[in-house]
Amino acid sequence: MGSTVGQLGEFGLIGRLQARFGSRPGRGIQGIGDDCAVLPFTQEEALLVTVDKLIQDVHFLLDGSAAADVGWKLAAVNLSDIAAMGGTPRWALVSIALPPALPVSWVSAFYDGVSEHLGLHGSLLVGGDTGRSPDRLFLEMTLLGTAPAHSVKTRSGAAPGDLLCVTGHLGDSGAGLRLLLDRVRGDQEEAVLLDRHRRPRPHLEEGRWLAQHSAVHAMMDVSDGIDSDLRRMAEASGCGMEVDVERLPMSPELRAVCLRTGWDGGSLAAAGGEDYCLLLAVATSGWHEVAGGYSDRFGRPLFVIGRVTAEQGRLEYRRSGEVVRLGAVGFDHFKGGR
Ligand code: ADP
Ligand code: MG
Repeated sequence: MGSTVGQLGEFGLIGRLQARFGSRPGRGIQGIGDDCAVLPFTQEEALLVTVDKLIQDVHFLLDGSAAADVGWKLAAVNLSDIAAMGGTPRWALVSIALPPALPVSWVSAFYDGVSEHLGLHGSLLVGGDTGRSPDRLFLEMTLLGTAPAHSVKTRSGAAPGDLLCVTGHLGDSGAGLRLLLDRVRGDQEEAVLLDRHRRPRPHLEEGRWLAQHSAVHAMMDVSDGIDSDLRRMAEASGCGMEVDVERLPMSPELRAVCLRTGWDGGSLAAAGGEDYCLLLAVATSGWHEVAGGYSDRFGRPLFVIGRVTAEQGRLEYRRSGEVVRLGAVGFDHFKGGR
């Protein structure tokens, strides 16, 4: 008793809230514990709800980010949670707490980014809230979406033997953040990584396509770094995970920049965070159909990174078959992280 939220950690705290409020939320409701809350809506469709915020000096630096990029990203983090359930984003509310000295032009450009990104996916800004903040900016979005009620995907359906895969390259955004913080000026590759960090593109089309397949047992978005997100899927599904470090997909741009800077691409791929692609567990029996259909549809492969095991709570990394330890871990809001 008497511990602080810092000692308990973000996931420890959420675990307590889930234990307190999450066990019997009501009929047809999936409450705390997934990328979105799932609520009864129409006979055919479920309502998805998610909320996420960006805080100045925690998620972005005011002098290091364009206001429109911050707006784009606030939409991205929420859109990605809708993608994770296989849904379609519909209506957004934005709540802002601002210091009085902030130029109005900043707010206007921020909303340009928000509406550009929401508009790209056919969703509308329908409300919000405005208040004063003593010094830093707090920017929060609540996003509502819909999904076919019978095909909503959760984190908790992974089963031993399933293949683990991701829908995109890992580590680009984390490397982009590092370039930004280290004020590295670079080439074309650096520009690509910076763009991935500033304007992530959530995998909504991919999520909807994948959700139609019953062989996709579990799905979530990769937001905190694959290491952290794998642990969360394992915990929700009551199983373990075995990951082949050499199969963590890295973009040519990340490889090139790592060669130039000497950075460890593997650690960035495992723990960089903010990739906003999807992580899924797929039944081996349906793998060929899902993987083949996916690459036909999107012109990119699903990247297999490992498999689900029966050893509850155990996440094991392997390189050439040997078990290895990864130094870096994912992001926890109360433990500093990256
Ligand atoms: P994500 O990173 O996908 O947005 P989070 O890690 O923020 O997910 O949250 C995990 C789950 O815990 C979600 O179901 C979310 O709604 C719930 N949750 C997080 N913080 C709180 C809170 N303060 N009160 C109640 N539920 C929370
Ligand atoms: Mg999420």
